[in-house]
Amino acid sequence: MQRAQHWFYSTSWYKDVKKLKNIVNYDWQKRCICLDNGIFLIEVYYDQDLEIVIPERIQKVKEFINQASKRDSTDAVPERMPNCNYYRNLWWDKGELSSKAEWDKVTLPYKLAVGVTLNEYERRVEEFNVHGCWEWTNGDVIIYELPSEPHEICIGAITEELMDAVRPVKGTNAQIYSLGSTRKEADESFRPKKPLVVSPHGSDGLDCPWPNIVVEVAYTESVEHVLEKVKNYWLKPNRAHDAIVVKIDPVPAGDRPICMKVWHYCVSDRVTRNLFPARDKFDFGLHPPLTMQPGAFLIDIQLDCLYHGLKSNIQIPRNILPNPIVLDFFYVKRAIAEMFEDRE
Ligand SMILES: [Zn+2]
Repeated sequence: MQRAQHWFYSTSWYKDVKKLKNIVNYDWQKRCICLDNGIFLIEVYYDQDLEIVIPERIQKVKEFINQASKRDSTDAVPERMPNCNYYRNLWWDKGELSSKAEWDKVTLPYKLAVGVTLNEYERRVEEFNVHGCWEWTNGDVIIYELPSEPHEICIGAITEELMDAVRPVKGTNAQIYSLGSTRKEADESFRPKKPLVVSPHGSDGLDCPWPNIVVEVAYTESVEHVLEKVKNYWLKPNRAHDAIVVKIDPVPAGDRPICMKVWHYCVSDRVTRNLFPARDKFDFGLHPPLTMQPGAFLIDIQLDCLYHGLKSNIQIPRNILPNPIVLDFFYVKRAIAEMFEDRE
């Protein structure tokens, strides 16, 4: 009846478990390790009254959902709270996600640092391997997304769909690459070989070409913020061509997410600066039974979008890849459902 709930991936957790392998009182130690590393262990013992324990737990879930919906209602960035500041600063200072920082109680977006140069920001993002969680705006470093299992699983599944679809061009000069960090980092992005652009109009603020396909997955991030970022940053003229945006409704750490929404935008569909309809839009539940079949929710990506701005000495591989390539979101849904199979 015990279960561990993981809020963060913590690499130090595994090291600590190894250190403790010869300790006899394992359960007690496990509890301490969990507390020290931001993992909340909820234990229900056989002699506890389920009728009391379970309603208490449900109450906690309700409180969490209330918090999450408040979080979604505004994108104003509150000033930093003095409590826990030391531990929260460790993420910025040393790349360390400390449990003492109580990240689960933070209202997002959260201002992590102020007065930071772009170079310094980029150095730390690289060094601490912070992907898609922070954003730099005019010297402020703001957290919009916290690392979470649903976020990572979803990005992985979409990436796999896309890379599977372009597998036939692997090893050719029309290969599609998944990209590393750019100034404002997407969760995942893709492009073929493209020529350098005129500095400073590149994706890195210099001459780096822009990705053609951008994937953004919002879990703790609000839907307003992620759509704003996609429409008014990634899909501005001469930047990315298509964007896939996913919003997963947040649930308490370790629980199975309930539903997700998906949008696909292509710059060709922009009508005016503010009128930009989605090309595809769908949502589905993540709880069993999995009634959805392969083929029910597809995103088509035209080869002209995928290969937009391709180097002039390379041909779009129309004889190798289908046009459009097709991403089947049944497999994205299935990945989340399967990874949370044994959760409530
Ligand atoms: Zn497009």
